Amino acid sequence: MPTINEILQTMDYGPAPESTKEAQAWLDQHERRFGLFIDNAWSPAADTFASTNPADGKELAQITQAGAQDVERAVDAARRAQPGWVALGGHGRARVLYALARLLQKHARLFAVIETLDNGKTIRETRDADLPLAARHFYHHAGWAQLQSEEFADYRAVGVVGQIVPWNFPLLMLAWKIAPALAAGNTVVFKPAEFTSLSALLFAEICVQAGVPAGVVNIVTGDGRVGEAMVKHPGIDKLAFTGSTEVGRLIRQATAGSGKKLSLELGGKSPFIVFEDADLDAAVEGLVDSIWFNQGQVCCAGSRLLVQESVEQRFLAKLRTRMDNLRLGAPTDKSMDIGALVDPIQRQRIEGLVEAARLEGCTIYQPACELPANGSWFPPTLITGASTSAGIAQTEVFGPVLVAMSFRTPVEAVQLANNTVYGLAACVWSESISLALDVAPQIKAGVVWINTANQFDAACGFGGYRESGFGREGGKEGMFEYMTPLSEDARPAAPLVEAKAKVKASESNDPFAIDRTAKLYIGGKQARPDGAYSRAITGASGAFLADVGEGNRKDIRNAVEAAHKASGWAKATSHNRAQVLYYIAENLAVRADEFAARLAAMTGSKDPHKEVQASIERLFYYAAWADKYDGLAHQPPMHGITVALNEPVGVIGIICPNEAPLLGFISLVAPALALGNRVVAVPSEAYPLAATDLYQVLDTSDLPGGALNIVTGSADELARTLASHSDVDAVWRHDGSAEGCAEVERLSAASLKRTWVGGAKGRDWYDTKQAGGRAVLAHASQVKNVWIPYGV
Ligand code: NDP
Repeated sequence: MPTINEILQTMDYGPAPESTKEAQAWLDQHERRFGLFIDNAWSPAADTFASTNPADGKELAQITQAGAQDVERAVDAARRAQPGWVALGGHGRARVLYALARLLQKHARLFAVIETLDNGKTIRETRDADLPLAARHFYHHAGWAQLQSEEFADYRAVGVVGQIVPWNFPLLMLAWKIAPALAAGNTVVFKPAEFTSLSALLFAEICVQAGVPAGVVNIVTGDGRVGEAMVKHPGIDKLAFTGSTEVGRLIRQATAGSGKKLSLELGGKSPFIVFEDADLDAAVEGLVDSIWFNQGQVCCAGSRLLVQESVEQRFLAKLRTRMDNLRLGAPTDKSMDIGALVDPIQRQRIEGLVEAARLEGCTIYQPACELPANGSWFPPTLITGASTSAGIAQTEVFGPVLVAMSFRTPVEAVQLANNTVYGLAACVWSESISLALDVAPQIKAGVVWINTANQFDAACGFGGYRESGFGREGGKEGMFEYMTPLSEDARPAAPLVEAKAKVKASESNDPFAIDRTAKLYIGGKQARPDGAYSRAITGASGAFLADVGEGNRKDIRNAVEAAHKASGWAKATSHNRAQVLYYIAENLAVRADEFAARLAAMTGSKDPHKEVQASIERLFYYAAWADKYDGLAHQPPMHGITVALNEPVGVIGIICPNEAPLLGFISLVAPALALGNRVVAVPSEAYPLAATDLYQVLDTSDLPGGALNIVTGSADELARTLASHSDVDAVWRHDGSAEGCAEVERLSAASLKRTWVGGAKGRDWYDTKQAGGRAVLAHASQVKNVWIPYGV
């Protein structure tokens, strides 16, 4: 009699095809030709291109390539519709979003099949992941619309939003984008990826059924040129983009200085860390979900396996066995694990990267699976023997390719994990809660999954650090991306104080004036400017007050280095940071008269004490916030909790305003310090002495050296250096220079640093609504969502 194992070996899966009848009928009903959906009406299909099924290469439908004039029409429709959509109120919008959620559920199978046909991903995934998550997004955001007037009372909708998505999760990305935008009262011009437009076009139909008013959702199809036209369009107030880091960078450059709000969800090379005490079988399953889900075409795919050396061989053996059992084939077959890649272009790219790894001497493991003759396929692939700097270990493959490396200690694991320009996600596998929760905060990524992988929920924010982009999607933090603080509308049209005519930098020609030269403040010490130049600062009466150092590129580099060395400030407890800020305030209060006299001499202020008192109060204000800007604990529908933590951004360069030179400086520097950032501040170019007088206050206030560095000089030149510096994580500019702000945004594109710029407008620094609050703290922090097993 055969043993049970022998019987199992002879057994195989039978085909379990999902019917495509309804999907084909829907395509036929449209004669397989689709126009654009603008103002709730379909334009006739024109200038079309083919959308094909990646699994067999056959054409599914012809899709319209929109032109610039179509984008114009869509933006116009959205603009006209926006006031009415806002006027509908939170409850009115909630009802529409709820109807969309219900209709997505009602037609879930049709959507799932369309998505599988168009994208090549398995029906198991579209049916069990993409659709339920897309519906959940609309439900969740129906709730935010309902609660908007209560939870976001100080905010308004941004206006018209342009949204551009890639092909890997066509409907899910649509839901991530459209649901929060509509909830907040925006109207939308949405562009799906050229390869995968069908589910967005089906969604347009359910918009009409759900009662979405005309012009609120507009769908324009086509290639990157459509995206470009949206990016340039002056009628779009906010752009939300998901896609490659390369295009994200172009969009950052193209929108610099336009005042458009921007969120970028970009690429990744996420680490999947397995410690020796992990449940190895569970980790193997997690890895399958992490790198072979959606053929690895997932921005947060765990594409870098880091496994502890002591279990490396055992783990890799288990992994290879599991790979041998993965089933690749017809995506509409319900028993398939791996479907087709979206397009032959993607396959060629992946083949090229794997071949390059082979030529570099890496070992390639691929299970012996038969690839279908037609369509676009690539087998699950494991690469070992790669160096940490190898192309395959650093480049985002965006395919079913895993590169494995080992580590010895947790310290080394963290170093390897962070050895990437990206910072989207990470997985940590360990049965030791202490180890897992020690490692998670050290990883520079927007999402960390502990003993799980690729979990998503509408209540939990998702988004990157570093070159993985900025902004969050999902959760409360995601809603802020689609709103503008009302206080922004109250800002004065121009700075309240004009900058004085610039005084040219000069070598001091009065040897006796040397003692009156305020130096720079770097690493907790006063430092002479590298160039040995200074600039004369004259007072309101025109009389010479003092020289200040003329900082240059070298000084900024030194300051950034000192800031990085002061990493202890980020790790200090929030209680400790609060104490230091209180202490600075206290020491400033002791010298209030001196500061008031200086302000009066510099600016001619009639009531300088008011500014000093407001500065002391602002320090108290942010000291108070330091230990109260807590994160959130989400309870997604899965077992577990997601802890959304507000982490510091890192090293922030701040160009301070000329308006209220002391208060403006404090109002920007204090929130950054309160949340654990380290700062390189460029004080008001016209009135820098208010900041240089602070050196002695800082020296007696227990602020660790390097946490705050002050470099005086030309705002333009120093801002340029900060924005171009690859080790600066964010740059803020608030001196009213429109061109300077645009330049900061443009230059920041290279390393995709975060920016916060004030543009040409002024700001009332005395008004806590304009110069304080959570909106400011949000600029000083980035949210990390840590998924933790709980109650399992
Ligand atoms: P692309 O960046 O090329 O395309 C994304 C979208 O932008 C598409 O709709 C594309 O149009 C459009 N587009 C292309 N060029 C421009 C342009 N110059 N201006 C405006 N829009 C433009 O990425 P892929 O489609 O190739 O997607 C793969 C990449 O996306 C991967 O690198 C992946 O990491 C990243 N990604 C990131 C995610 C995240 O959440 N962080 C999620 C998913 C993917 P079209 O394709 O029609 O030409």
